[in-house]
Amino acid sequence: LASLMDVSYAEVIGKCMGLGMMVSINQRLDAEVIELVASEFGYNVEFIGVDDADSMDEEEIVDDPEDLKPRPPIVTIMGHVDHGKTSLLDYIRSANVVGGEAGGITQHIGAYTVDLPSQKKIAFLDTPGHEAFTAMRARGAKVTDIAVIVIAADDAVMPQTKEAISHAQAAGVPMIFAINKIDKDGANPQKIYEQLAGMNILVEEWGGKFQSQELSAKSGLNVDLLLEKILLEAELLELKANPDREANGSVIEASLDKGRGYVATVLVQNGTLKQGDLVVSGQYFGRIKAMFNERNKRLEAAPPSTPVLILGLNGAPQAGETFRVFEDESEAKEVANRRAQILREQGIRTKKHITLDEIGRRLALGNFKQLNLIIKGDVDGSVEALSDSLIKLSTEEIAVNVVHKAVGAITESDVLLATASDAILIGFNVRASSQAARLAENEGVEIKTYSIIYNAIEEIKSAMEGMLEPKV
Ligand code: GDP
Repeated sequence: LASLMDVSYAEVIGKCMGLGMMVSINQRLDAEVIELVASEFGYNVEFIGVDDADSMDEEEIVDDPEDLKPRPPIVTIMGHVDHGKTSLLDYIRSANVVGGEAGGITQHIGAYTVDLPSQKKIAFLDTPGHEAFTAMRARGAKVTDIAVIVIAADDAVMPQTKEAISHAQAAGVPMIFAINKIDKDGANPQKIYEQLAGMNILVEEWGGKFQSQELSAKSGLNVDLLLEKILLEAELLELKANPDREANGSVIEASLDKGRGYVATVLVQNGTLKQGDLVVSGQYFGRIKAMFNERNKRLEAAPPSTPVLILGLNGAPQAGETFRVFEDESEAKEVANRRAQILREQGIRTKKHITLDEIGRRLALGNFKQLNLIIKGDVDGSVEALSDSLIKLSTEEIAVNVVHKAVGAITESDVLLATASDAILIGFNVRASSQAARLAENEGVEIKTYSIIYNAIEEIKSAMEGMLEPKV
């Protein structure tokens, strides 16, 4: 950068320090910082080509609309503990296999496909819960088309139900409600609908837009109706992909298997993945030696929305990492190696998250439109009051958006949501659990705690006015 601008490297480092970044001479700067530093020297930066290894993910090959074919929806099941997520996944897994393969799922590979009698398919992610969902999202994967929120009809909308709803909303994923355990005495679906209405979520039965289905995951009653509603939602979403191109998608899970080497379950999101394809995922690459579905059946090709277990990568990429097929072996190697190098240089943190004193910098760059916040507090009243006051700080330039608010300590799940939504975490009279604090440190998520509402409002207000002094 220094030589491009014809200044000394010491001047560039000096500017970086002035912006609050301790950098060394051989460190990579991210695009935002480059823009900012260059503007300090009076330059405008234009990024060209695909020289940056990370741009591989963004390099969208745009499909001709004529090549797009409908693809099955990919569904995640979320909800409060013990409300029946696992039971529902298990029932669907074992009950809806056509062609005499009932009970035929022989291995948990992290996702599975059900073939419905209507010839249609649905792919389910097999790790229930919003933590898994958001952890994947935090690493860049957007793998869920529809979220099914399970709520036990003999219980109530619980804290994790609310979390699941916030996580789905933050991801912009449509929700369908599964009102479970209706076989039980004391099941009262109307009470659940009422509680949802209290959160501004109206189910269709109550004149709203959200589909819901009363069912029993244990006996299987009405589960078929839920699947139909999923297909209906999928139709509205017009989910499409181009099966006639090289594949890309996301890693669901990966590990080292004693007998088979590195195995990874990937979800094909566009294109068709074939045996023999050269795949790059994160810093790893390799040719696919073999592919299997969840019934341990060997596949030659996996079209869009298919989860498959692949053999042949030279390492285990993280869940949520994206993958892409390359034609050219040396290009694939180069991309993987360059990423490995970046990881070595910078640690695993690849993305800089928003902090209060980062707001001023982003404002200066002129592309900062929305400040996302997650608010946790000791009592409902103060959470609501703080949330209302902070939303009112919204200006024409920046909208303040509360992604999630709840009573209780700051948890790992909150940090994941902050990572995925690029949000600042605010604790009012509550602290972060030690695991949450560690995760926040690793992910570069800022946690601010306050015990006086006025202080919280004032500090965020000054940050939004670009008034906070950058900390060096
Ligand atoms: P998860 O924590 O959300 O995955 O919940 P589980 O699927 O593990 O279910 C928690 C408990 O509720 C288990 O004992 C299940 O057998 C029971 N359960 C789940 N669904 C139903 C249902 O529809 N009816 C009844 N009676 N029990 C259910």
